[in-house]
Amino acid sequence: MEALARHAKELFGIHLTGSQVVALMTYERELLAWNRKYNLTAIRDVEGIRTKHFLDSFSCVLAWGATPPERLIDVGTGAGFPGIPLKIIYPSLRLTLVDSVGKKVKFCHHIVEKLKLENVTVIKARAEEIGQTEEHRERYDWAVARAVARMRVLAEYLLPLVRVGGVALAQKGESGPAEVHAAERAIQVLGGHVRHLVPVTLPGVVEERYLIVIDKIAATPPAYPRRPGVPARRPL
Ligand code: SAM
Repeated sequence: MEALARHAKELFGIHLTGSQVVALMTYERELLAWNRKYNLTAIRDVEGIRTKHFLDSFSCVLAWGATPPERLIDVGTGAGFPGIPLKIIYPSLRLTLVDSVGKKVKFCHHIVEKLKLENVTVIKARAEEIGQTEEHRERYDWAVARAVARMRVLAEYLLPLVRVGGVALAQKGESGPAEVHAAERAIQVLGGHVRHLVPVTLPGVVEERYLIVIDKIAATPPAYPRRPGVPARRPL
């Protein structure tokens, strides 16, 4: 954990407190234990969890700078990434975690209870469903997703949830720039505008990573998101 704390500070300017380190250790222990029973994440070793889950989740702070959002939604959160590590370091966040798979949602509930995290809502649903509900549509300052869908599809999951003036953030690997290029039309139709791509380097990880930062500049037309499954089958 010492290396994680050092890297968090050096790479992202995050100073982890003692209680935050303890929370991350508990999260790591529970993830390892649950992974033995349920297949929650492909990364199953301690080093991998610290670098590819915790540090990679922290990298989102490069996009939002000194001021974290008030309301954040993490779409396709899986075992809670990047939302839960971000909540651990920014306790003031009002966080919503969404995934369509029951065992992942169950694990997120478990961690939220175990770490006594406040103002966290965990929802079992598809992004396409909640994007059409009054409770969630255009309600969030930031919507974030990692490893959920290619950018053309992801734009239709994220942008309907973001208020005008807010931001959609996609954590991507080396295909990031090409995916953004392919998604230009979709992003525009949905009310977004690509602000920039922020390169991210993680210790010991060769692959280039990018944060795709998309400003929401206009309301999303009511037709989007389309019915569950349609954005992936017929990307904009
Ligand atoms: N974001 C996590 C991470 O980076 O570790 C999980 C990534 S996992 C590869 C993709 C997750 O997205 C899965 O848990 C899947 O159930 C969820 N997912 C995919 N499409 C979705 C949708 N349309 N709505 C909600 N969840 C979705």
